Amino acid sequence: MNSRPSGRFADLHLHTFFSDGTFGPEELVEQAVRQELDVVALTDHDTVEGCQPTASACHDAGIEFITGTELTAEQEGHEIHILGYCVDAQQPRLLKEIGKFQVVRQNRIREMVQRLNEVNIPLQADQVFALANCRAPGRPHVARALVQAGLVGSLDEAFERFLKKNRPAWVPKFKMSAAEAIQLIHEAGGVAVMAHPGLNRSDEVIPGMVDEGLDGIECFHTKHSHPMSEHYLQIAERFGLLVTGGSDCHGLSKGRPLIGSVKLAYEHVEKLKAKAAERRVAVQRQFTA
Ligand code: AMP
Ligand code: FE
Ligand code: FE
Ligand code: ZN
Repeated sequence: MNSRPSGRFADLHLHTFFSDGTFGPEELVEQAVRQELDVVALTDHDTVEGCQPTASACHDAGIEFITGTELTAEQEGHEIHILGYCVDAQQPRLLKEIGKFQVVRQNRIREMVQRLNEVNIPLQADQVFALANCRAPGRPHVARALVQAGLVGSLDEAFERFLKKNRPAWVPKFKMSAAEAIQLIHEAGGVAVMAHPGLNRSDEVIPGMVDEGLDGIECFHTKHSHPMSEHYLQIAERFGLLVTGGSDCHGLSKGRPLIGSVKLAYEHVEKLKAKAAERRVAVQRQFTA
């Protein structure tokens, strides 16, 4: 008997090697097929470069694709990740703004490496850039470069000893405000969703972000317990927010890909797409007014 629940399912939080994931678009989509997903969204950090090739791979595999990105923002002193779905990946202002944050990321890599050198860890920025080979490098790339160079035994060790907040090589990242991130996503015709709220433990920022135009909240995430998901479903209900979910797969995690470990019911994808369609009409009206 087939134990798979009936219906169509989505994983709306995925990364590729265009940011800090390890899969390329084709490999990601192959995994999506294996997981019997009907819809995937790509949400690489501060880039939309992977969307076109992933859309094309999805097309070939008969899977629905949703364009996305994950922006790092700040709200009342908390780091908040904001997912932008159904954005126009060609919109000039979106591309210009994420371009600025790509430069911020590249400079931050140099600073992290310098701090590592100050504690006698002889890593070079070029080793990180060569390994990352993308415009939006981040701490996972530094961690992988440290492992590759034999300077730490594992990615966990790299984060625990050096890269976590307040560790020797931790460098705060210049961030846009949540309001700016939401506005940027809206202007690009997209839908703004608070990522993995359970990892932030900062529910008090949610009402303010709703006032600033937040459209949805990621209730289902690999690191959300069942009660946590229930808690955020209630918050979504209370504030009239869209519900999303995704695995936040960055490639293999302890030998297995996370993709498909969260399966979002298709009804939520329909609501997300309806909201995006409304937003696109509003954006077009603004330009023709
Ligand atoms: P960054 O955007 O450069 O600050 O890096 C954040 C990314 O690092 C997150 O999206 C995760 O992919 C990863 N990350 C953060 N903390 C950890 C951790 N403790 N262990 C492994 N990966 C982590
Ligand atoms: Fe990441
Ligand atoms: Fe995130
Ligand atoms: Zn993510």
